[in-house]
Amino acid sequence: MPELPEVQTTVSDLNKKIIGRKITGAWFDWRKLIKSPLKEFEKDIKNRKILRIKRRAKNILIYLSDDYILLVHQKMTGHLLVGKWKIEGKKVIPVEPENVVSDPQNRFIHLILFLDNGKMLGLSDLRKFAKVILGKRDRIENLEDLKNLGPDALAVEYENFKKIIQRVRGKIKQVLMDQKIIAGIGNIYSDEMLWLAKIHPFRPANKLSEKEIKALYLAMKNVLEKAIRLRGTSVSDYRDILGKEGNYGNVRYVYQKEGEKCPRGNGIIKRIKMGGRSAHFCPVCQKL
Ligand SMILES: [Zn+2]
Repeated sequence: MPELPEVQTTVSDLNKKIIGRKITGAWFDWRKLIKSPLKEFEKDIKNRKILRIKRRAKNILIYLSDDYILLVHQKMTGHLLVGKWKIEGKKVIPVEPENVVSDPQNRFIHLILFLDNGKMLGLSDLRKFAKVILGKRDRIENLEDLKNLGPDALAVEYENFKKIIQRVRGKIKQVLMDQKIIAGIGNIYSDEMLWLAKIHPFRPANKLSEKEIKALYLAMKNVLEKAIRLRGTSVSDYRDILGKEGNYGNVRYVYQKEGEKCPRGNGIIKRIKMGGRSAHFCPVCQKL
C-alpha cells in the first residue's frame, strides 16, 4: 500500500504537472471506485480547473474550481499516472509515457480524467480497492475518514508523539500503523523505523522508555524523509505519476527481507505474523 512517502511523491509531482489544467471529461470502468453518485460525478467534474493538490495522511486531495475537492485514496494497489491512453471498447491501451506503456504494474487503469492539454490523469489499481470521492469542499474536508486521522507522522512534534505513545496499549507496530493514532505509516515504514530504533514490533507502546520513544521518533522522521528523497518504495506495485519505480526499496533495512542478514551484521531477519500482516525485524537488535 502506498504510505506517506509514496503519496507525498505523487502529490509533489502532480503539483508540478497538472496545476491550472481543466478537466474536460471522465471515463471509468469500475463503478464501485467512485463513492459519490455517478451521474453527479460526471457532471460535477467536467470543466473544473485543478487549483492545487494536498496530502492528508495517505489521502490525495485535488482542489478544484467552484469549491470542489476530488479525494483519492489509493488503498492497497492504486496509483495515479499522468499520460495518454487509447480506449477501444473495454480495452485501455497505454500510449505514453514509456514507463506506463512498458511496466505491467501500470496497466490496471480503471479511471481516466481528460485534461485540456491532451494529457490524462489515470488511476491504475490492480486489486480495485482504491476510492474516489468528489464533493464540495466543506463536505469532503469533514468526512469521517479525514476527521478521525491522528497527527501526520511527518508533522507531529516530539512532545505530542511521546504523549500519544505513552497513552496507548497495543503492540507498537500496530500502534504506528493505526491512522487514528498517527497518520501516514503502514507496513513498510513501521518495520523500517522499528529496526532503526531497535524496538521489537510486539513491545507494548505504553511500556516503552522515554529513551526508546525518542529513538523511535527520530527513526520515524529519518526513515520517512529518506523515503521521500528516494521517491518511495516499489517492492510491490507502487509507481510514480510517470510510471517509474521509487528507490527506497534498494536501501531498505528489513522490510520483506526474511532470511537475509541484518544490516548491522549481527542477526538474521525474521518475519512474524501480526494480525493479518507480517512484521520483519532482527531478533538480535530488537529484543522483546
Ligand atoms: Zn540486527
